[in-house]
Amino acid sequence: MDFELTEEQQMIRDMARRFAESEIKPRAAELDAKHEHPAEIVKQLGELKMLSITVPEEYGGGGMDNVSYVLALIEVSKACASTGAIMSVNNSLYCYPVMAYGTHEQKMKYLYPSTSGEKIGCYGLTEAGAGSDPSALRTTAIRDGNEWVINGEKKFITSGNVASYAVIAVLTEKGKGYKGISSLVIDLESTPGFKVGKVEEKMGILASGTAEMIFEDARVPSDALLGKEGEGFRQMLTTLDGGRIGIASQAVGIGRAVLEEALEYAKTREQFGETISSFQAIQWKLADMATELDAAELLTLRAAWLEDNNKPYEKAAAMAKMYASDITMRASIEGVQILGGYGYCKEYPMERHMRDAKICQIYEGTNEIMRLIISRNLIKGR
Ligand SMILES: Cc1cc2nc3c(=O)[nH]c(=O)nc-3n(C[C@H](O)[C@H](O)[C@H](O)COP(=O)(O)OP(=O)(O)OC[C@H]3O[C@@H](n4cnc5c(N)ncnc54)[C@H](O)[C@@H]3O)c2cc1C
Repeated sequence: MDFELTEEQQMIRDMARRFAESEIKPRAAELDAKHEHPAEIVKQLGELKMLSITVPEEYGGGGMDNVSYVLALIEVSKACASTGAIMSVNNSLYCYPVMAYGTHEQKMKYLYPSTSGEKIGCYGLTEAGAGSDPSALRTTAIRDGNEWVINGEKKFITSGNVASYAVIAVLTEKGKGYKGISSLVIDLESTPGFKVGKVEEKMGILASGTAEMIFEDARVPSDALLGKEGEGFRQMLTTLDGGRIGIASQAVGIGRAVLEEALEYAKTREQFGETISSFQAIQWKLADMATELDAAELLTLRAAWLEDNNKPYEKAAAMAKMYASDITMRASIEGVQILGGYGYCKEYPMERHMRDAKICQIYEGTNEIMRLIISRNLIKGR
């Protein structure tokens, strides 16, 4: 067993850390307050290949491994969880399925432009009636000559209000349940019949847009189909396994910010003539946070390593996502407590971390669904 990172992995982590510290962190509070998509930062992330870290260089990506992706996403999410969410979706939920299931032509047409940051992608699975149970989705795509005609509405789509591309799950054959689901990759800007619906007012990750995507007799060319008809459900399950490594990384990043800021505050805030870090009640909170965060990061890196080494990683990814988001939620609540009244006010970023942490327990499968996945794997002896 080797806990050392390779030179390349250290390099990308350090580069991401420098960029996050200097370009992202100083703007995070303002972006959150204005609910503003960080367009300029996203463009710069694209130039650094951070929106397509594992995409081979021939398609415009970084050509690196999933461990590098985790390391970079932790740094970005530590600075700004909203930017982390946008980066995670482009890497895991847009680039991955096009890479894994697309043809060379599809990759050149739909993937290459999304690696530069000029244009980004999103992933449309959820619908009003299909959340934890995506097999209940109702959006249809019917063949008409050389086109697919799409009708339906996707809900809660990260970057759905700003993305130029989307991978969406649709029913291409009704009455076949999940076996009738297929994936389409779409250039949204040249799709008549597509429009952005309501943009949600949320609790956290406020600089990351969450939008409805509405398709009304929307027409896309026949080359939009990813893989074969009926393979969409299986593709979606694998895409989400990788996506959960991204959510775990986001959670670890938020948790790292919480620990760093709580520690700094505890070392300087004085009450009763001493710094509050001298009180055992505060020390224990910090010790629990640090230990649980290390465990979460190791689980996340293990899941990424398994993926890099072509070993099964469904259970490991679910464990990492569930544990990292649960302990980061807890840490952020304690972080607010350590800062007392200041933790509750916007003068410090701690209240933002607490709002941002919550979504990691919900999206890309709630933590109840993670527990189902983990236990199913256990029972099957995996
Ligand atoms: C900010 C944000 C961004 C998002 N981004 C995207 C995106 O980019 N693309 C996308 O497709 N979706 C996205 N989503 C959707 C997200 O993945 C879903 O909200 C999530 O999967 C839960 O679905 P739901 O909201 O319909 O909850 P429901 O499925 O209705 O669940 C409600 C509650 O019931 C529990 N529950 C449901 N089924 C079970 C069960 N079998 N056993 C035990 N408990 C159960 C859940 O855990 C939860 O606590 C996003 C959501 C948000 C809020």
